[in-house]
Amino acid sequence: MEVREPTYLFSKEVDDLIQETIECVRQKHTLDKNLHIVWTWSNKMTRTAGYAWKNKRKVRFSADLFKRDKVSGRRNTIVHEICHILSWEVYGNKIKPHGNEWKYLMRLCGEEPLRTHNIKVKPKHPRYPTYCMCPKPHMLVKQMINRMKRGTAYTCTTCKEVLTLHKDFYI
Ligand SMILES: [Zn+2]
Ligand SMILES: [Zn+2]
Repeated sequence: MEVREPTYLFSKEVDDLIQETIECVRQKHTLDKNLHIVWTWSNKMTRTAGYAWKNKRKVRFSADLFKRDKVSGRRNTIVHEICHILSWEVYGNKIKPHGNEWKYLMRLCGEEPLRTHNIKVKPKHPRYPTYCMCPKPHMLVKQMINRMKRGTAYTCTTCKEVLTLHKDFYI
C-alpha cells in the first residue's frame, strides 16, 4: 500500500531535495530536459529507508523510517536514491549500484556515500522466545517475560502447557 498522508510534513522536503539534486548534477552532466522522478511513500518498508527502480525514474521512501530519522539522515536517504536514478541516467544501467559513479554523484551533491542509512532500526516492541510443546517458540514482549521471571505462569493456548523461558525444558 502506498500512502502519502502520514508523512505529508516531509513531502515538501522530498520534492525540494529531489529537484535540488537533479539541478546539482545537471550543472556537470547532461540530463534529459524532461527528467521527472516519481516518488511515493511506502508503509511496508521497515528496514530499508529508500528504494530506486532501474529504468523507471521512480523511487520509494519508508514512511516509518522517515518519521524516526533526523533531517540529515532523511537528506542522505533522498539524495542516495536520486543519485541511483541519476547515475543510471548519466552512465547507463550497467554500472554497479553503489559503485564509483554513484559515489561521485553523492559527493557532488554534498552527501557522504553511505551504502546504508544510519537510522537506528529497533523494533518498537522487541519480542523474546518462550517455549512449550509446540514446534515453534511463542514470541512475547519484555513485560510478559519479566512477569514470567517473577513467577507468573502463562499457558499456551494451543498445547495448554505452561510457557517456559528455557528452550530445552521439555526435550
Ligand atoms: Zn543504494
Ligand atoms: Zn504450545
